[in-house]
Amino acid sequence: MSDTQHCDVVIAGGGMVGASLACALAAFCRVAVVESFPMQPGGGGAPVYRPSFDARSTALSLSSVAFLRSIGLWDTVARHAEPILHIHVSDQGRFGSTRMDAAEEGLAALGYIVENHWLGSVLHGALRDRPNLQLIAPASVASVRAADGGAIATVRAGEDTFDIRAGIAVIADGARSKLAAQLGIGTEERNYGQVAVIANIAHATPHGGRAFERFCDAGPLAMLPLTRAEDGRSRSALVWVKEADEAAEILALDERAFLRRLQPAFGYRLGRLLAAGNRGSYPLSLVQSAEQVRAGIVVLGNAAHTLHPVAGQGFNLSLRDVAALVEVLRDAHAAGTPPGSLRVLEGYAQSRLADHARTIGFSDLLPRIFGSGLLPVAAARGMGLVSLELLPAARSLLVRKATGIGL
Ligand SMILES: Cc1cc2nc3c(=O)[nH]c(=O)nc-3n(C[C@H](O)[C@H](O)[C@H](O)COP(=O)(O)OP(=O)(O)OC[C@H]3O[C@@H](n4cnc5c(N)ncnc54)[C@H](O)[C@@H]3O)c2cc1C
Repeated sequence: MSDTQHCDVVIAGGGMVGASLACALAAFCRVAVVESFPMQPGGGGAPVYRPSFDARSTALSLSSVAFLRSIGLWDTVARHAEPILHIHVSDQGRFGSTRMDAAEEGLAALGYIVENHWLGSVLHGALRDRPNLQLIAPASVASVRAADGGAIATVRAGEDTFDIRAGIAVIADGARSKLAAQLGIGTEERNYGQVAVIANIAHATPHGGRAFERFCDAGPLAMLPLTRAEDGRSRSALVWVKEADEAAEILALDERAFLRRLQPAFGYRLGRLLAAGNRGSYPLSLVQSAEQVRAGIVVLGNAAHTLHPVAGQGFNLSLRDVAALVEVLRDAHAAGTPPGSLRVLEGYAQSRLADHARTIGFSDLLPRIFGSGLLPVAAARGMGLVSLELLPAARSLLVRKATGIGL
């Protein structure tokens, strides 16, 4: 057992959310991030872009772009981010579709698609480079507990076990958080019985900044515009939501058979689908932590709420949580108030309630409405899309949801 270390904030989990929080907090306090995966060896250095054909991507809302800009990382992320200029929403085999257009909304883009490994590489580069920030990896937080108005995280790094004493501990260890469960923090869970099949797809017609969201009876299918592949081909990121047994079946298909299945489901708006990268799969459920804060402790990111990816909101919602938490902690720091005081942290949790209710409700509703093949529901949703096309105000509201503006 080594000596106890000290810092202002200790973060358990250096995933996309923990790393984003650490970069923002390091502007005004001392932060330790503990991450169980080994990070790239060596300190400093520019982030590395590997335009892999197989990577998972994230749709960043404009609110996330503003946050990344505020921590000085957007210009680097933007080097390999593709702007979404139009969103086309349609219902397979039914009347009704709607389009959202950046120019019509007076925006340069409705959002951006970025590959996770590039976003991760930029964030992890910042974790290594910023003063005030200590990255401890590979190492895992074995437990977190409140103590003396703050918190203690017990860390295991190889043979070594040591404590980090901090004003506040943030649990950002991902979905079904073991650290939150250890504290007796329960979860509410809705299993959708669906799986998201993801792959990067090369296609004959350039996407021109178009993102497609297509609602099929078996679940939604999204094709999101990516930067061009190394060989110059136009490509999009597929998220195809399927019932669990059908997902297993299409995951087992060879590439040609997979494309033959995908082409009629998606249609020809991107021309012929030419190639598919490695496929990945993610079982889908909505998991919400019963508590977001306790004295000395905050639960954040997927550990706080894991959403259905259909509306592309999980990371975006978490970044809005991060931005709000940073503001509250900055104020507490300036006022000399203990950051882990329950009053401070409850203020943060209260400020997030309305956005959580709206965003989680929206993400939960879409798969339930659009996953339904029942005729009246199907007809109603077709009507919904038609009226959305006719009602610019309602469409602008949907745009605000998609972009995160005004949330
Ligand atoms: C198919 C799919 C598509 C998606 N698309 C979008 C999208 O377009 N837009 C969007 O906003 N969101 C999207 N999301 C959601 C988004 O991916 C998540 O919100 C985000 O990854 C959550 O990040 P996180 O850091 O909370 O969790 P994670 O990424 O799971 O990170 C947790 C980290 O904690 C580490 N860890 C775990 N236990 C410990 C421990 N004990 N000690 C130390 N470290 C530990 C892990 O190694 C990991 O690095 C999508 C999700 C899926 C499944």
